[in-house]
Amino acid sequence: MRRACVSSGSRTMTNPSIKDKRADYQFGVEVRQLLELVIGSLYSNKEVPLRELISNASDALEKLRFEALQDDSLYEKDAAPKIRVEYDKKNRTVSVIDNGIGMSREELRNNLGTIASSGTRKFLKALQGKDATPDSLIGCFGVGFYSSFVIADKVEVSTRKAGAPRTAGARWTSRGKGRYSIQREDRPARGTRVTLYLKKDEEEFLDGYRLREITRKYCDHIGFPIVMAQEGEGAGKEETVNRATALWKRSGKEIADQEYREFYKHIAHDFEDPLCYVHKNVEGKTEYTFLLYIPAAAPAGFWERRQLRGVKLYSHRVFIMEAVEQFLPPWLRFVRGVIDSDDLPLNISREILQTNQAVDSIRRGCTRRLLDQLKTMAEREPEKYRQFWQAFGTILKEGVVEAGAFRDDVTELLRFASTREAQDEAALVSFHDYRERMKEGQKEIYFLATENPATARSSPHLELAREHGLEVLLGDPVDEWVLTHLGEYRGIRIKWVNKGDLDLPDAGDEEPEGKETGERLASRIADCLKGKVKEVRPSRRLRESACCLAYGDQEMSAGLQRVLTAAGHQPPDRLPTLEINPGHVLVRHIGAAEGEERLRDWSLLLLEQAMLNEGAPLRDPADFVRRLNRLLGELVTPR
Ligand code: ADP
Ligand code: MG
Repeated sequence: MRRACVSSGSRTMTNPSIKDKRADYQFGVEVRQLLELVIGSLYSNKEVPLRELISNASDALEKLRFEALQDDSLYEKDAAPKIRVEYDKKNRTVSVIDNGIGMSREELRNNLGTIASSGTRKFLKALQGKDATPDSLIGCFGVGFYSSFVIADKVEVSTRKAGAPRTAGARWTSRGKGRYSIQREDRPARGTRVTLYLKKDEEEFLDGYRLREITRKYCDHIGFPIVMAQEGEGAGKEETVNRATALWKRSGKEIADQEYREFYKHIAHDFEDPLCYVHKNVEGKTEYTFLLYIPAAAPAGFWERRQLRGVKLYSHRVFIMEAVEQFLPPWLRFVRGVIDSDDLPLNISREILQTNQAVDSIRRGCTRRLLDQLKTMAEREPEKYRQFWQAFGTILKEGVVEAGAFRDDVTELLRFASTREAQDEAALVSFHDYRERMKEGQKEIYFLATENPATARSSPHLELAREHGLEVLLGDPVDEWVLTHLGEYRGIRIKWVNKGDLDLPDAGDEEPEGKETGERLASRIADCLKGKVKEVRPSRRLRESACCLAYGDQEMSAGLQRVLTAAGHQPPDRLPTLEINPGHVLVRHIGAAEGEERLRDWSLLLLEQAMLNEGAPLRDPADFVRRLNRLLGELVTPR
């Protein structure tokens, strides 16, 4: 093992006394920032530090219990997990003590010298936003261990890793002013003791009633006994202040909403309330309990990692492992919570999970229940559902492609923007809504997927449908990918308004205006755009616009191609078709233009316009601007 105290760049000083081997360090940059920003300027939420310390103690006990499955000598003959909250009026200290996994010196430095937790990083980021004050944010995020300095002007962490010799103990000390020190310590007891030396005006935490109140409020869900004791003068008897039963093992009827929320914050390391939860005890061939939460927003780092801390697995109430993806399909990977089943062996490994039948049955059960929950939310609480959809819709959508047996359920949960909801652009429409109000004679569901759905409403592709009073659903390239897999909804084909021919129910068969000249012009333009488009043809879908891009019925739009390429795939490289509106004044002008050079300029300009309309990037924007100005210049000063 590397010796942390010897080889660090941030180490600033060694105490000359070799015996106690004390070393001073600087906190990482982020910690220093955090401490400066937060600690001095907090007024409210002083309950947070205690909650955080007890939460850490509980994590440490779970880690030990898990490691001890492999090696029960780690218990060092004391297998009873316990958290102790001690207060000492004379010395003005409050301590949180656990006999959990403990930390090595190196871990002390990594965990309490840098910012290891993503929640804390998120907090820092939010702080750097404009209107944020630390006080308004700490309630939302918390800052984990470092919140200790909100009420303490000195913090001591004395710890020893389970299984290590007593001489491997260490004491971490800091006044929260940029530095901390670590010192060797002979420590018979394994686990960690965090002692807060309270600031001047924080006497409230030296009161047993107050401490008990805070512990009950935030920590009742914790599955280990929390014992409260007064030390020094006035010491009395110890008292267990929480229920110490795993929350999910209790009956839902006797669990308050607040407890569910606190439990979520604890296990998900989130600081916001969850959007909703489902708690169920399933009996039958496989018996299991689950308590699953849908967060209100994607947690920090979620999109980068594509992974989350996810669902925790327990068996016989023993924490087995974190982030088990086998119990939920990937398109529900935003869900957090706990699954507990006594039908799984305690020594289960990730490999076994993949082939275990009980796992299959649990996954089906949980998936079913979560989908039902979402369905109910969509029906009864549309606002909440909309919030859910905005946070995790893009992930749930994948379910249409991957869901197998659940595909229909996921399809019903899809939501889209719609041209019908012009007044309320944030309104979302389901396929069900769409089908209910389809026009008589309408045989298809019209859909437009564009790279920038915010501007989709002004797309030229909507002109014909608008003229015929038809509703078009709007989405992004991911929708295009998903709905191409789906193909239809309850037997009604999904029709892309920018692909193939567009035969609207009452559109008749009238030929586009000026068909023949249109075709001639199209072929001249096509000559100018060789290699850039598949073909050029007179359009039947345009009314006001001069041109647009179109694709074959089975082709991917350029937008989807780009998204797939960015995700590391290699989609087939297909050229779009350029459609021109022969009736448009500009197109008529181009038809009459003289000179090949000029026609080339106009042709390119049409193509670039069509691309801009799609929200697609131009390959050479400066060239486009030059060309546009050249042509405009000619109009302003005709030769
Ligand atoms: P988080 O709990 O979200 O990871 P914290 O700031 O609360 O962030 O804690 C930082 C880290 O310090 C923890 O992840 C853990 O590794 C370590 N730690 C804190 N308290 C304890 C403890 N009582 N026992 C063991 N490790 C601890
Ligand atoms: Mg913590």
